[in-house]
Amino acid sequence: MGAHVEAVRDSATFAQSVDVVVIGGGIVGTAAAYELARKGVSVALLEKGRIGAEQSSRNWGWCRQQNRDFPELPLSIYSLRRWEELGPETGRELGFRRSGLVYASTKAAELATWEAWIDKARAYGFVSHMLSSSEAKQRTPGSTSDWLGGLWSPSDGRAEPSLASPALAAAARDLGAFVHQNCAVRGLDISAGKVTGVWTERGLIKAQKVVCAGGAWSSRFCRRHGIDLPNLNVIGTALKTTAAAEVISGGLATPGFALRRRLDGAYSLSISGRGRFELTPQGLRHAPKFRVAFKSRLAKLKYRVGPSFFSGPEALGSWALDAVSPFERHRVLDPRPDQQMVEEALTSLVREYPALAGIKAERAWGGLIDSTPDIIPVISPVDQLPGFIIASGFSGHGFGIGPGAGRLIADLAVSDTPIVDPAAFRLERFSDGSEIRQPKMM
Ligand SMILES: Cc1cc2nc3c(=O)[nH]c(=O)nc-3n(C[C@H](O)[C@H](O)[C@H](O)COP(=O)(O)OP(=O)(O)OC[C@H]3O[C@@H](n4cnc5c(N)ncnc54)[C@H](O)[C@@H]3O)c2cc1C
Repeated sequence: MGAHVEAVRDSATFAQSVDVVVIGGGIVGTAAAYELARKGVSVALLEKGRIGAEQSSRNWGWCRQQNRDFPELPLSIYSLRRWEELGPETGRELGFRRSGLVYASTKAAELATWEAWIDKARAYGFVSHMLSSSEAKQRTPGSTSDWLGGLWSPSDGRAEPSLASPALAAAARDLGAFVHQNCAVRGLDISAGKVTGVWTERGLIKAQKVVCAGGAWSSRFCRRHGIDLPNLNVIGTALKTTAAAEVISGGLATPGFALRRRLDGAYSLSISGRGRFELTPQGLRHAPKFRVAFKSRLAKLKYRVGPSFFSGPEALGSWALDAVSPFERHRVLDPRPDQQMVEEALTSLVREYPALAGIKAERAWGGLIDSTPDIIPVISPVDQLPGFIIASGFSGHGFGIGPGAGRLIADLAVSDTPIVDPAAFRLERFSDGSEIRQPKMM
């Protein structure tokens, strides 16, 4: 049945010609549309299904700087600042609370990795604290494990995936942006080697710039125009519990589960690093590029041939711009959750917190995680096609960084000084050899 997401009203009139078209109404596309509208730019936000209904409503809701890869830490720090401002600025509830994030562990190797990370993070002005065994216990009152130690970042937070993208889309509309749902973009309008608009299922919209924020679909969209965006989609599972007593006010990661307190008095629950991987033609083509990134996770992934081999974001095949496209055939991707993981996570949670005995899964869902070979997103103009900007591949941590990404996209689209150095996010790093080839934080 998928995760819940609030409904958003469409604009009354259909866009004909704008400065910027944004494809995709997830957290990245809605934040970009909002920041563009705030800059006074005319913008149309086009979503094939419903605003926020794919990854952006299916995530855990963590807004995290802690344990980020360093190239994206400055954008994460900016993003947390923006999360705090956006509620008051838009007058809408995004569910953001700066409630901190605790990691607790019984594994010495894990603690050593965190310690090395916080030393380097200080140079970026970010502070999180190593916790001793007794401090980890104090941060997790009621837990039963004898923690060896932990990590604590008071400035991290949580937001509500069901609220955030809808709130930003509505706020963009309040500022004059066009918002159109059930409006798939079939492809780009290109003339004299430049982007001049998009072909949608409702006709042509002229634009000087087009941002592709299509999440798991971006790679297929780009391939239609001869642009290679290396991408692998992994299916994650999460669940909403029944309402229960508060054992943690923010986020908690342990080896057995990952937990987030929700505004509605329940929890979002999952297990770190778990996922399902469907073998697909495009996945197999891109797999060699992902050897390093996925090395440490291979044992935690399940593999199978699924329906996405033949249709969906990683299937082969092109389409005409005046005929029904794959995007209209899949209004909302709703992969089934991994029931075994759901039960394991609940068992682990209750073992850790006996006070939560009787807690159940109210609903569980799957969601595609679009990953790049270095687990860092692409937020980048495309050299080979002027006017086209890709903002995709957020690799399982795009919700927290979404507001920052939206601002950076807006800066790039109108050639303002970018809020952070965008070099780490260039698309061309995958073809010019500058990509960072190390096992990454996930
Ligand atoms: C189980 C799970 C847990 C996660 N936990 C966290 C977390 O705690 N913290 C965190 O920071 N991140 C987390 N993530 C990752 C995070 O959800 C994503 O990185 C983020 O939501 C990506 O946002 P997006 O806007 O790029 O993509 P999406 O939210 O997928 O949005 C893309 C949109 O584009 C639309 N679209 C695609 N093609 C077209 C087209 N041709 N025309 C029109 N529309 C189109 C799609 O319908 C979709 O709505 C998690 C992800 C999952 C699945």
